[in-house]
Amino acid sequence: MVSGSYTCRMILQPTHENIQRAAEVLRNGGVVAVPTETVYGLAARIDQPAAIEEIFRRKGRPRDNPLIVHVAAVEQAYDLTNEHGKQLINAFAARFWPGPLTLVLQASRLVTSYVTAGLDTVAVRMPRHPVFLELINAVGCPVAAPSANISGKPSPTIAEHVETDFGNNVLVLDGGPCEIGLESTVVHVSNGIVHVLRPGVVTAEELATLALDVVEQADSPIVVDVARSPGMKYRHYAPQAHVVLCKTADELRAACQHDIAHTVALVPAYMLEQFSGLQVRALQQQTFYEELRRADALQTRLIVVLCDQSITAQNALYNRIQRASGIEGKGQ
Ligand code: AMP
Ligand code: MG
Repeated sequence: MVSGSYTCRMILQPTHENIQRAAEVLRNGGVVAVPTETVYGLAARIDQPAAIEEIFRRKGRPRDNPLIVHVAAVEQAYDLTNEHGKQLINAFAARFWPGPLTLVLQASRLVTSYVTAGLDTVAVRMPRHPVFLELINAVGCPVAAPSANISGKPSPTIAEHVETDFGNNVLVLDGGPCEIGLESTVVHVSNGIVHVLRPGVVTAEELATLALDVVEQADSPIVVDVARSPGMKYRHYAPQAHVVLCKTADELRAACQHDIAHTVALVPAYMLEQFSGLQVRALQQQTFYEELRRADALQTRLIVVLCDQSITAQNALYNRIQRASGIEGKGQ
């Protein structure tokens, strides 16, 4: 029997044996950290209320912020919802699952209020990472998994980030760096209209190919319906350092001059050569959270992010940059 607490380093290679070990922890009502193609997740079986509670406790996650439920098969998702939900799953899954798209559906009785934070809907996704899929299959039950970070901090995109936040008492399956590095797109469909509750790498344009209307606010890359997506009202993805945005190379240089020794600049990779004398790093989707964490580890006080058109065109990345800076935020 595997106990819930550990004293040795708990980052494990995702061998068949170690995935079985993680499955045993989940079966015994524990939590484990798992790689996904988006960010690392902190996972528990949805039929284990104490383990779900443990996720909220360890993350310091507000109780009104519901969890995404992960499945390894479409049939497993059917059980979590009603007839209408099944139709939506059929429409979206063929095109986007497994992958970084989360559907908010009417919840069936199988989903407890611990998972939904008392809502009558449930968020469901089939991840694309083979290690996570093997784990879900091994436990034979859908698994709830928010990002494996302390709430509010940047999401973890390598196994070591999980260890930084939770120490060595959570088993982490090491799937390497996350392929996408940002959280999934979250959508809710009502009256045939797809509402994007959280932008992700599945874009409104791609969703529109399903011949449903996709709602997007004209003046913002963010479509937030706070009543429907409780998590969006909280400050997210934020490092310790202050984050400011600028639009041009000149603005960036000026912003860095104030405290050059404690300032890190994040710029589009093609501009890296232009800033000798500054602590400058490449700004890209896959490593954005890693760079925020790296800057904090270096006691950085200010992170200046150069958002030219090549960055603002990337809705999901630009959304996370804005949120890290605290610019965006209804009710934050
Ligand atoms: P995280 O697990 O940290 O990636 O956050 C999950 C996101 O999905 C949050 O923004 C939640 O508010 C959102 N979410 C989860 N369940 C629901 C739901 N039933 N209705 C609306 N949004 C949800
Ligand atoms: Mg999160």
